[in-house]
This record gives sequence, structure tokens and C-alpha cells, in this order.
Amino acid sequence: MEPCRGALADILLVLDNASHTAARPGTTRLLAVSKTRTSSEIAALAAAGQRAFGENYVQEALPKIDDLHGHGLEWHLIGHLQSNKADVAARAFDWVQSVDRIKLVAALARHRPSDLPPLNVLLQVNIDDETGKHGCDPQAIDALADAVSAESRLLLRGLMAIPAPFDDMARRRDAFRAMRRLFDALQSRHPGIDTLSMGMSEDFAPAIEEGATMVRIGSALFGPRPAKR
Ligand SMILES: *Cc1c(COP(=O)(O)O)cnc(C)c1O
Repeated sequence: MEPCRGALADILLVLDNASHTAARPGTTRLLAVSKTRTSSEIAALAAAGQRAFGENYVQEALPKIDDLHGHGLEWHLIGHLQSNKADVAARAFDWVQSVDRIKLVAALARHRPSDLPPLNVLLQVNIDDETGKHGCDPQAIDALADAVSAESRLLLRGLMAIPAPFDDMARRRDAFRAMRRLFDALQSRHPGIDTLSMGMSEDFAPAIEEGATMVRIGSALFGPRPAKR
């Protein structure tokens, strides 16, 4: 596959424009979502200057993290994390964006190696109250945040959400706005947090306008995902 330099440049331009519209120039980070992509596709994007990559599955990510060791990349786990994989995740990733229960906090803290910097943590929020979806209830944020803050091997960085994919962009904006309010409330209790991760290929510009500081983009960068293997 061709290196996706063109797509990367296009996305960085839209990202920059949206950040200006939101009066927050230069504050939004791009996470390249590399699930289903090969190590060589990731290496091509890294060569074009992209540093942060997101993966959904621990087992799929491990060989890629290994292959690309030495490229100075930053790895984010953005998919649901089962408690029995917390030990592996705590060693392999730099960030876990999908923390949504107390049990996971303790497991990640216990397994984060002492020779690595603290693991960066985002709390995933089920903002549209979708049944069967992962993420914590908004009411649970404070207790989870306090639990993360109490762990020296974890660093609380903020919140993450995957809003319901409404066709109506106004409804998606409602979810982004609600997340922004939750983020601001959390920041008043935990002034060190700096990351609100929301917005994907189809809706990252409105997400930034509503307050996202990190957007997670897969298909718009790498092309449509191959059919499920
Ligand atoms: C796949 C995925 C993305 C990226 O989705 P695209 O529509 O391909 O940009 C972002 N966040 C999460 C949690 C995902 O699973």
C-alpha cells in the first residue's frame, strides 16, 4: 500500500482549521488508529512524522509494538480491556484510553513496571447511555478518577468517549458537548488532566470544535478497513 502522506497532510490541515475555529490553535493531537493495519503501513505513517498510534486488541498490537520498537512511537490501547489482559497491557502500552471500572485500575497499577514512566490513563465514558456498550456511567467518573489518582504507577490524563454514530451530526455534537462539560467538571477536581479524546474519521472536525484535544482516526488516514478476518 502507498504511504498515506497525502491523507495525513489533509487531516492535519482540517485538524488545524478546526482548532482555530475552536480558538485553541495547536492543542489537538492526532491518534492514528492502526487496527487491522500492518507494521509496514504503520512504519510508512511514522516516516511521515506521525508518532501516536491506537490499537483495539492487545494480542493484535503486541507484534506490531515489537516490530516497531526503536521508532519512538507512542502506543494507545483504545479497545475494551479484559481484566485478565491488564498485566500485558500495562507493560506494552503508553496509554490506556478504555479504563471504565475500578478493578481495572488496580490491575493496571499493580502490573505497570517500575522502570517505565507511569501509565497514562483516560476514563472511557458511555456518554449516550447505550446498553451493552463499554464505558462508565457519567456518575462513576469521580470515584474512578480518584482511584487512578491514588495510584503512583498511573497518571490520570482525562476522558475518552465513542458517541453513538447518529446520522444527525447535531446529535453527535450534543454528545461531544456533554463530554466537554464532564471534562471541565473533572478538571476542576483534577487540574492536571489535559486530554479529551473524542472524534473519529467522520466527525473529528465537529469534535474538535466542541472541545476534543485528541482525535482518533483510522479509515480517513489508512483507507477503508479490510473486511473482518
Ligand atoms: C476504529 C476506531 C476508531 C477509528 O475509526 P475510523 O472511523 O476508522 O476513523 C476510533 N476509536 C475507536 C475506539 C475505534 O475502535
